[in-house]
Amino acid sequence: MSAPAAKPASALAGRLAKLGVFNDSDLLLHMPLRYEDETRVTRIADAPPGEPVQVEGEVEHSEIVFRPRRTLVARLRDDSGTLTLRFLNFYPAQQKLLTPGARLRAFGEVRTGFWGDEMIHPRLQATAAEQPLPQALTPVYPTTAGLAQSALRKLVARALERAGARGDLGDLLPEDIRAHARLPGWERSLRFLHQPPPEARLDSLEDRSHPAWRRIKFDELLVQQLSLRRAWEERRQHGAPVLLPRGHLCSGLLAGLPFALTGAQRRAVDEIARELALPYPMQRLLQGDVGSGKTVVAALAMLQAAENGHQAALMAPTEILAEQHYRKLADWLAPLGIEVAWLSGSQKKRERETMRAKLASGEALLAVGTHALIEDDVALHRLGLAVVDEQHRFGVRQRLALREKTIGGLPHMLMMSATPIPRTLAMSYLADLDVSTLDELPPGRTPIVTKLVADTRRDQVVARVRDACQEGRQAYWVCPLIEESESLQLQTAVDTCEHLRAELPELKVGLVHGRLKPAEKAAVMDAFVRNELQLLVATTVIEVGVDVPNASLMVIEHAERFGLAQLHQLRGRVGRGAAASSCVLLYATPLSQNGRERLKVIYEHSDGFEIARRDLQLRGPGEFVGARQSGVPLLRYADLEADVDLLELARQAADEMLRHHPRQAEALQARWYAGRSAYLKA
Ligand code: ADP
Ligand code: MG
Repeated sequence: MSAPAAKPASALAGRLAKLGVFNDSDLLLHMPLRYEDETRVTRIADAPPGEPVQVEGEVEHSEIVFRPRRTLVARLRDDSGTLTLRFLNFYPAQQKLLTPGARLRAFGEVRTGFWGDEMIHPRLQATAAEQPLPQALTPVYPTTAGLAQSALRKLVARALERAGARGDLGDLLPEDIRAHARLPGWERSLRFLHQPPPEARLDSLEDRSHPAWRRIKFDELLVQQLSLRRAWEERRQHGAPVLLPRGHLCSGLLAGLPFALTGAQRRAVDEIARELALPYPMQRLLQGDVGSGKTVVAALAMLQAAENGHQAALMAPTEILAEQHYRKLADWLAPLGIEVAWLSGSQKKRERETMRAKLASGEALLAVGTHALIEDDVALHRLGLAVVDEQHRFGVRQRLALREKTIGGLPHMLMMSATPIPRTLAMSYLADLDVSTLDELPPGRTPIVTKLVADTRRDQVVARVRDACQEGRQAYWVCPLIEESESLQLQTAVDTCEHLRAELPELKVGLVHGRLKPAEKAAVMDAFVRNELQLLVATTVIEVGVDVPNASLMVIEHAERFGLAQLHQLRGRVGRGAAASSCVLLYATPLSQNGRERLKVIYEHSDGFEIARRDLQLRGPGEFVGARQSGVPLLRYADLEADVDLLELARQAADEMLRHHPRQAEALQARWYAGRSAYLKA
């Protein structure tokens, strides 16, 4: 039907590249989304409505009508009855196929329309009487504009033939591993999925539980494990400064703290301290829920670098957060006589020069800042440890830029994240990282009560804010998120603030948003910290890190627009002091099914890990680890939740293969990534 005329090879290559297909091997791994059954013909009279079927008959009549718009309408007859075929858009080729008297097969869903039973836009195929039916189900592949299914199908079928002839379909999985995982052979699985026999169970093909699918998914997971292991081993080839836990500075900090470390903090500090003393670069993720106390763990690691005469830098994604870290560190470390350099994009040129000079000369061993730290003119030649807070907010390049400041060798890296990483993700995408987890909150925190309130009851919520503030507490009011437009977002924040000022004349209301000059932002935050403002109207700039213990009430407007991780982070801004805290999620009615489900997760759970797990189920891993961003390819076929058993098996198999079958491991990686590696690095 609408198969495009042969395209010059480069145009075809361009389209295939869009699908991530660069060679035969990629074509073979371009798996069908679903299948259509053209292996049988249904009589028109028996065709069930609403299910894809194939009918065959003779064109009785065809015409172009103009009611209400240009439409090609034809009638197909078999010995059981007639069926209308209707095309709102059509090609001359289709018109030609529909010449009266022609014999056709039409594939589509029958619907009962105004003029009786009809198929809209069926797929047509000229046929001769008694022409044999296909012997395999017809695969439907993901494709792209300008590349027809039929063309792609042929490309895959030919690639399969060529690979078979070349002997490229051999099983690279050692027999014992394959048998242990109870998986079918590679060639058999591939052929089965690209050309399933008519008797194949469509349901197990489509929900991807069929053994052939499990084999593909297993290999995909295995290759991912192999790449991550290699990355891990490669890193160990580099040298890094040996930072021994000498203890004089760390014990000074610990002695001066107004609190004792939690058990979880002590464990993390020990793990990090041990690894910093090794001669190759640590690459560790410190994960812990909002408020679990990651900063002090980072500070201790930084001091260990300083104890050895090396520098350490802490980079945070926002000015507010970076400044808060800076103040905390400066505060803690001043009694020890340790200076902390501060670098931000907004500071005065002279101050920046001074800080830069101190870092370049090595006079300052510790630095805290925003992206300003990774500017070219900042020299950190003795950098022994780089700490990146809220690491998922930085791109890979930015994280690496900090690492490359060291001259000779690599620094140790500590990445921190309050977006907890579900176990399956940690086992897959992040398996080249070592992980320390703070799974315990400091004592004395009061649990936060979460309330879901329809925005029709907004007035009552405003009244609660008034009461809370008049009792001496403070509150946040988070403005609705408007992702599509930054200027609209800004306007909304300004409007919301004006409204609340009018509604609450007895309170001092401040506003903070991303477009304020850093100095203005800092002034507002300071006033809030000092309780000179009772209500802080804010955009999500307060999402990360902000720590004001007296604030015990948070209202989030249009909560249904926020992501789960974001809501959890926002909510974590309260519940930091002794007062009972609450978080009111205002939602617009009516609430969509998905919106309801997501708010329910936040309402029912306060544990960040559980929330992250649900989030992963609702949204998939893309949001946690962008493919290009992490350099680790996204899984295309395996599903971390559904295929967790395969993931476990693949992890064992990866060990086994690297130890006993390194050549096959390499060939397997090449099979999956040889053509794609350039694409992934882009
Ligand atoms: P996060 O893990 O979210 O970055 P922070 O490091 O900002 O958490 O710590 C949250 C608050 O808890 C800070 O005020 C910090 O000083 C305090 N804190 C950290 N560790 C402890 C502890 N062991 N006991 C009591 N308070 C602590
Ligand atoms: Mg933090």
